[in-house]
Amino acid sequence: NRYLTVKHHIHGLPSRLDFELRSAPLTLTIPPGSEDVIVKNLFVSIDPYQINRMKVHNSSQKTADFARQLHPGQRIDSFGVGRVVASGNAEFKKDELVVGLLGWEEYTAVRPGTMLTKIDSNMDFPLSYHVSILGSSGLTAYAGFYEVCDPKEGEKVFVSAACGSVGHLVGQFAKQSGCYVVGCAGSKKKEKLGFDDAFNYKEETDLRSALKRYFPDGIDIYFDNVGAEMLEAAVANMNAFGRVALCGAISQYTDAGKQAAPDMLDIIYKRITIRGFLAYDHLSIYHDFVSATSDHIRHGRMQSLEDVSHGLESVPSAFAGLFRGDNVGKKLVQLADI
Ligand code: NDP
Repeated sequence: NRYLTVKHHIHGLPSRLDFELRSAPLTLTIPPGSEDVIVKNLFVSIDPYQINRMKVHNSSQKTADFARQLHPGQRIDSFGVGRVVASGNAEFKKDELVVGLLGWEEYTAVRPGTMLTKIDSNMDFPLSYHVSILGSSGLTAYAGFYEVCDPKEGEKVFVSAACGSVGHLVGQFAKQSGCYVVGCAGSKKKEKLGFDDAFNYKEETDLRSALKRYFPDGIDIYFDNVGAEMLEAAVANMNAFGRVALCGAISQYTDAGKQAAPDMLDIIYKRITIRGFLAYDHLSIYHDFVSATSDHIRHGRMQSLEDVSHGLESVPSAFAGLFRGDNVGKKLVQLADI
């Protein structure tokens, strides 16, 4: 079984040279009494949060289970979809398709109690959708937008990293809810996806005045994927009782010196709500999310933008590319034919 690992803890921007491919023997025979399920991985998700697991951690840092620190030599778990090739667990049968916490490796032995769900064989969507629009990225966008931002028709919504995995879905949910949506991204090649407007933040010298130009009447909702100066500029342009969903802070992940310092008095006087969230805490709305989103897809109201590379060897450069803005939509790596 070939798997990827980090050679050392990573400081700053990741490069494909920070990773190495190793292999370990794999047996497809499940020992009696074991409830393990062995999955052949088909698509794996490439996510920015993994960089935070690859750094040296401060011992007081608290993280969710899936975001635990990784050490050199360790296999790297990650969301993915795959096919069961052996099972000691009555719930999962050989050849069934599953989604869950798999890994940047060819096969994953999934222990009982680890996140693993069967894919409903009546779902006629491409398999990759279960890690993108109908998977963790979709749930993040849906839960963050509906549960944290509490949108109302006609409100003005700003989304950063708007052509990324989560961002392009947030913008589409916001359009479905009758909001006015502006996104920002770091390149001209990233399309608008039916948003009302979009801009390239790398071409702006002053983010506050750029946002004033796009939102002359102020922002009601900011869905933040990047943190730092974009968060400060958005807060400066928020309307009274505006809501900010802190989804991620990618611009800070690879630059330890970068922090967001929005104007506190501005937040108080405008009674702005700023709330961090994890998709993971919103699993109770998973079925509502899948049902509403499937319906949007079937009726052509939403689309999943995916950026797929092929082969385990391509995972390190796909991952490093997230921090250069190479991906257009959800970054996935297909490891094997379906
Ligand atoms: P994306 O697909 O959006 O990929 C990352 C994108 O971020 C890049 O394409 C790039 O686009 C942008 N980016 C990279 N570096 C910078 C920078 N220095 N400044 C500004 N933008 C930058 O990733 P995801 O959609 O998977 O994740 C988006 C955010 O959501 C991340 O911060 C992630 O950690 C967070 N997240 C949070 C979850 C939660 O439960 N709270 C769950 C999943 C993700 P460009 O520069 O072209 O705009």
